[in-house]
This record gives sequence, C-alpha cells and structure tokens, in this order.
Amino acid sequence: MSMRELVVLGTASQAPTRQRNHNGYLLRWDDEVILFDPGEGSQRQMLHTGITATDLTRICVTHFHGDHCLGLPGMIQRLSLDRVPRPVAVHFPAGGAEYFARLRHASSFYETAELAVEPIDADGQRITLGIGTLEARRLRHPIETYGYRLVEPDGCRMLPERLAAYGIAGPDTGRLLRDGHLDRDGRRVTRDEVSVTRPGQRFAFVMDTGLCDGVYALAEHADLLVIESTFLESEAALAAEVGHLTAGQAARVAAESGVRTLVLTHFSQRYADPRRFHDEAREHFTGDLVVAEDLQTVQVPPRRVPSPG
Ligand SMILES: [Zn+2]
Repeated sequence: MSMRELVVLGTASQAPTRQRNHNGYLLRWDDEVILFDPGEGSQRQMLHTGITATDLTRICVTHFHGDHCLGLPGMIQRLSLDRVPRPVAVHFPAGGAEYFARLRHASSFYETAELAVEPIDADGQRITLGIGTLEARRLRHPIETYGYRLVEPDGCRMLPERLAAYGIAGPDTGRLLRDGHLDRDGRRVTRDEVSVTRPGQRFAFVMDTGLCDGVYALAEHADLLVIESTFLESEAALAAEVGHLTAGQAARVAAESGVRTLVLTHFSQRYADPRRFHDEAREHFTGDLVVAEDLQTVQVPPRRVPSPG
C-alpha cells in the first residue's frame, strides 16, 4: 500500500522553545509530498526526516503570520539550490500575495526552480490533484487564513470470488467496471453485486482560527486531522479574542466531526507540560489522540472498513 503519513517538523506557536521548533508539517500521500506552513527552521528540521526538497511537490500556507511562513525563503531557495527538476505548486491566501512576493525574493539567489503559484481567493476553492481534491476553507483569524483538506474520492474494489461465481473474467471485468453492468446468459449483473465501496481517505489541516464553520467543514470525517490547540480552556476567553482554539475545542470538533486520528499542535510556550493538552482533549475525544512532538511521524489510519455492495 502507498505511504500516507504526517511528519511533524515543528510544533510551537509564535516563539520556539528548547523542545519545540516553529511550526512546519510534511504530508506524504502517495506521490504527493506537501509542506504545510513552514516556520523558521523548517529546512533544518527536514534534514532529520529523510525527506528532501527534491521530494516536495506542493507547499500550502494557511496565512502570513511569521510562525507559519518565515521558513519559505530558505525552503524556496533550497528548491533552486537542489535544482528540483519539476514545478512545485504553492498555495496561500491571495490577500497575502505581497508577503509571498517578498518572502520568495527575500534575498539574492540563483533561481532555477519553477514554482506553480496558485493563490486561494475563495472560500471552498478546490484544486484537482491526481490523488483527489485539495479544498481550502476560510478560517477565523485576524488576517486572511485558509485551512486545507485533502479528499480522496470513494473507489470500487472488485471481489474476485463474486466475479468467479458469475463467470466473469478478462475484458468483461473492465466492461462491467466501466458500464456499471454486464448482461450474461439473459441476466444483468451489476457492479454493486460484484464489488464493495473502497472508502476514500481524508486529511485536514486547520490552523490558526477561532471556532467557525470552516473548522467543521474541514474536519468532517477526516481520517487524520491536524489542528491547532494553542491554548487550554483556562485561556478560552483569550483564545476567542485572538482567533485561536483550545485543546478542548479542538477535541470537541474532532468528536462531532467523526475524526479518527486527532493531532494537536501549535502550542503556546506558556504551557510547560504537554500532558495538559492531552488530558483536556481526552475528556471530549475517544479516538486516537496525538499531542504532537517535533519530528514525530503519524500514520494516516488504515482505510475504513468497506461497506458490502
Ligand atoms: Zn496566526
């Protein structure tokens, strides 16, 4: 099976700590390697992961606060230094195009890498990828911010024993898959009779935001949700004021949205003990819960069990 995993580069909001680098995340998903929100130090953190600039296919930036984008200049220059042979797509809020232009050319370098720049300028904007659809949703933060989700369409898995029972083989299998039915010996065999649905997988990335519709839209049925939990409930009023989430809120979103694996990150440096994020989230969410640490790898959970056709 293809590799689908999250590699955490950094987990600190605002200011790094001795244990936590600024934000940064890599998503390996089949032939895509997507870098999300590279903060300062992301390039060096990447050295520890075995993933190189040449592996990157796409960069997604949620917004232009420094802890989510100050790693861009180094990463973009690295693409040229390593002579990355194919275009790397870059998505960011269109309103921040000026920031992006400055970061892209923050200092002198010999530019050889090609960037396919595709800014996000609408809530719900969709980008079609070979692996599914990348969708951006507007979030609630003091500056224009978009979260992202990756949605793989449902597929269809043929059941060999059922095909055999109907005596279907060879080119007939392709015909049945394509047309949805096949007429044999005076009887129509439908695709549903010989296959099961292969549920598509979903990944969601929610960062920085107060609670809003976009958070729920992104989190819906995510197999893996990466979500900011800058604060604890004790700072809920402050969180709402500055456009951030608490661990409790993030966990309730995950529980209400049918999330399977929940990854909390983007922690304020005011909290010394990460266990507190875990304990607060656990009160609301019973699924797989990860309080992210730098350089941790989190697997996308195995596909949901197919429903019989
Ligand atoms: Zn921010």
